[in-house]
Amino acid sequence: MLCSKTKTSNYYHPLPHTLEHGEAKQNRPNTKYYLPNNMKKIDYLLVGQGLAGTWLAYYLLQAGQKVLVVDEHSPVSASNIASGIVNPITGRWLVKSWMVDEILPIAKTAHQELEQFLDTRFWYNANIVWRINDQQAYNNFIRRSGMEGYRNYVADVTTTPLVSGFKTCLGYAAINQSAYVQTAHLIQTYRQFLLAQNLLLPHAFNHKDLQILPKQNGVQWQTIQAKKIIFCEGYKGMFNPYFSDLPFTPAKGEILIIEAPDLDLKGQIVKGNGFILPHVKPNQYWVGSSYITNRHDENTTETEKQNLIKRLNQMLDVPYKIIQHVAGVRPATENRRPFLGLHPSIPQIGIFNGLGTKGVSLSPYFAKEMCEHLLVDAPLNTAVNIAQYAL
Ligand SMILES: Cc1cc2nc3c(=O)[nH]c(=O)nc-3n(C[C@H](O)[C@H](O)[C@H](O)COP(=O)(O)OP(=O)(O)OC[C@H]3O[C@@H](n4cnc5c(N)ncnc54)[C@H](O)[C@@H]3O)c2cc1C
Repeated sequence: MLCSKTKTSNYYHPLPHTLEHGEAKQNRPNTKYYLPNNMKKIDYLLVGQGLAGTWLAYYLLQAGQKVLVVDEHSPVSASNIASGIVNPITGRWLVKSWMVDEILPIAKTAHQELEQFLDTRFWYNANIVWRINDQQAYNNFIRRSGMEGYRNYVADVTTTPLVSGFKTCLGYAAINQSAYVQTAHLIQTYRQFLLAQNLLLPHAFNHKDLQILPKQNGVQWQTIQAKKIIFCEGYKGMFNPYFSDLPFTPAKGEILIIEAPDLDLKGQIVKGNGFILPHVKPNQYWVGSSYITNRHDENTTETEKQNLIKRLNQMLDVPYKIIQHVAGVRPATENRRPFLGLHPSIPQIGIFNGLGTKGVSLSPYFAKEMCEHLLVDAPLNTAVNIAQYAL
């Protein structure tokens, strides 16, 4: 395949390639998508274009592969409703996130490269300001901020309010090197790029339509023959007939978008009884979220809404208006590690899933790893390799 160096990126991306050539183009139906009448051969068919599918498509295209993505747009997919926080320190005990020292710099660089490529912005450096409400948390922060390996991330505790519009609390501590990504903007902008290149079909993929061909021929779906198909379906991967035995533990989350003109986060993320962070429009904020394990419906509930309001009222000292209430499902896994690899008995089929609560930081790193595994058989990290599970 021809590759061209785009003016906005140091990376090689294929020249626009379409699924059809010559007269087929003139006969294209009046829709944004179409399938060629005759068999089209590609390298990789990806199902799903959330964060997983987006980053995998990005790296495969960079490597000059012929890729086609099939994605039924879901406005409440995890990637569309996530707060997009990159949090190097997690939980009450303030433990470093898994592989954070390695993953964080790659996440930052990758997002900045994709921003350049798409000529837009979705990565925002932002401290996470913890509102400390009890002595134990206060002590934890003091201990961690002095510990080797943590000093880069955990700043000193202060009693000076770092944000305004909040009720008073015992103290504040900032987590440095954190950020948030406007994930919906990221995937929607990349979707527009893929659509413009005829590399995305906004279809539902029905697994019954997939034909497994002899190994060397790959798979066939409608009029597309692909060397491999990689499923990046988010929590819906648990219903995928080839991977339903993987230990998915989906976690539903409900969130609010509020408008609060008197709130001033100074561009930061606030962590109290949940997170509050800037949303897309001025004066709008993302608030959330609940974490309900083993639920996989996308319906909002009055109970969770009241829960979120209660938690918000414990923190905020300014009026606000609820603009939106939505629910989505995180593709979480039993051991909190992603799922990567090819099916043990059908190697034409693979999966990139299980990003759980950390999709933003994990997706570029592991998409790259998956890409190298597909292209040059590079080994996968044993913690994420699906070879550890019986399928
Ligand atoms: C409330 C909430 C808050 C979150 N906050 C954060 C956060 O702050 N930081 C963070 O890092 N992560 C966060 N996450 C997690 C993050 O959103 C996920 O890890 C990540 O988005 C998962 O991406 P994915 O591509 O695997 O799945 P998804 O985003 O679910 O994307 C899967 C895509 O596949 C499509 N698809 C599925 N099946 C089919 C099919 N058969 N045919 C066609 N298309 C199909 C879907 O329509 C969808 O577009 C949050 C999640 C939720 C729900």
